[in-house]
Amino acid sequence: MNKPVPKLDLSQVTPHIAFSADQGKVWLNEQRVMLFSQTALGKFRKEVYDTIGEERCKAFFMRLGYQLGILDGELARSSDAEMTIQDRFMLGPELHALRGMVLPEMVELELTEKTDQFYCEVRWHNSYEVEIYASEMGPMDEPGCWNLTGYASGYTSALLQREIFFQELECLSCGNERCFAVGKPAQQWSNYEQLKRYYEPDPLLEELRSLQTTVEALKESLNQGDKLANIVGSSKPFKHALQMVTKASDSKVSVLLLGETGVGKEVLARAVHITSDRADKPFVAVNCAAIPPDLIESELFGVEKGAYTGANQSRMGRFERADNGTIFLDEVIELTPRAQASLLRVLQESEFERVGDNKVRKVDVRVVAATNEDLSVAVEQGRFRADLYYRLSAYPINIPPLRERKEDIPLFVAHFLEKYQALYNKNVLGISDLGMERLSAYHWPGNIRELENIVERALILADVNGVIGMETMFPEQSGAPTDAKILDASGHLQDKLFPAGVDGAELIDSLLESGFELEAFEKTVLDAALRKADGNVSKAARLVGLSRPAFAYRVKKFAE
Ligand SMILES: [Zn+2]
Repeated sequence: MNKPVPKLDLSQVTPHIAFSADQGKVWLNEQRVMLFSQTALGKFRKEVYDTIGEERCKAFFMRLGYQLGILDGELARSSDAEMTIQDRFMLGPELHALRGMVLPEMVELELTEKTDQFYCEVRWHNSYEVEIYASEMGPMDEPGCWNLTGYASGYTSALLQREIFFQELECLSCGNERCFAVGKPAQQWSNYEQLKRYYEPDPLLEELRSLQTTVEALKESLNQGDKLANIVGSSKPFKHALQMVTKASDSKVSVLLLGETGVGKEVLARAVHITSDRADKPFVAVNCAAIPPDLIESELFGVEKGAYTGANQSRMGRFERADNGTIFLDEVIELTPRAQASLLRVLQESEFERVGDNKVRKVDVRVVAATNEDLSVAVEQGRFRADLYYRLSAYPINIPPLRERKEDIPLFVAHFLEKYQALYNKNVLGISDLGMERLSAYHWPGNIRELENIVERALILADVNGVIGMETMFPEQSGAPTDAKILDASGHLQDKLFPAGVDGAELIDSLLESGFELEAFEKTVLDAALRKADGNVSKAARLVGLSRPAFAYRVKKFAE
């Protein structure tokens, strides 16, 4: 039983803290964290306790700890692949101490790479929860370090990727001599069912939520007009565009959607359709740029069998298929002059002929067109008919680019994550706070489509149940904020960029005056780091303050 147990080594974790006080932010790797007052949290806990009772309050703080533990467990899981599982596990108690919540002391730890066995005994010194009971709530009947228990359970479960529960068996808050907890595979606890319930969402909340859903469903059935509920976006410029759509939907006026590529024109074209009285009739979308010019007429208006056209069979065009419904012509500027003439005829007379046919057919179709080029310029250049332009632009709607509706980005991220998690049958915990910040700062030339691609790619690359970090989304620009300060092992703030004693400004000046080349310099530094680390990429990455994937990415970039 007297096996050596690992000791805490805080130098492993202190460099992960970064302060950007001038931005009002503190980072623990990619998690934004904050310095919070124990007294305020104690008063809050007392209020929660008085409001919802001991059992619910306990579950509440256990889950709060659990969530925090999962995030730190993910951080440990994605850290240096060469650490032993024991060292990696110890990052949990170290982060717990770094967060100022408790000083854990391992009493026993059974954990090896190969076996499934996990057993842990831990003493908790200086638990902040014990202090809260002492100052705000008085003695407890049962162990009260709920938040710590939840954290240890969440952390270990995330790190080992299976359900591990800790239980506090002795606690200073209920008159024991020490705070003492045991962790083991969840199923091995005889009170497993009871413990598991603490980590499940509160039945009271579930009940409220299901009532809320019912109320919302009832509201919706009362308010048939709100068919746009599944369209993403709540920013002002987007709402304005949506209002324009709803106003147009009652008439048959042709709508022209204007906006950059990828802003979601087809979504709005569908919105025009589903809010109109044609909603239960066909909606047909055509991307005019995707169809070869010599086929566009037969594609739109159909073709009649005959020697003249070379067609073996008669075929309906898209306009016929959209009869009584809506047709969406994306990139309408690509239409050939003949197709433009036929389109004008449909708009003016509601009639057309199939290619190779002279029978006049009637059709009732609402046209929504879209373009990302300026049609009036195309008219001036003689590429687009002026009369058709005036017809189409009777009701123009501008769709804002994503960079002008950044407050919608989190909504889109949630929407696409939900979509691709279902598609790839893979769950993730979401996007790191720093990752989300970069998404908001990016200028999005490819708009919503680009965002969707990034989210999809990141989901494919992410670990199951992991957090999507910066480097998964933007491999070329990962890392902590460059203006940040870090904590050194002794807990003092340090400038991240230069070690103590080096005058950064002077160094940069002298570099710039000597025919400096950034790329060559970077390559030299990377090579030197690799040499110094004897070719060990993880070590080399640490030397230059990069993650392993970010380091590897750069080395590869220079190799190409
Ligand atoms: Zn305790």
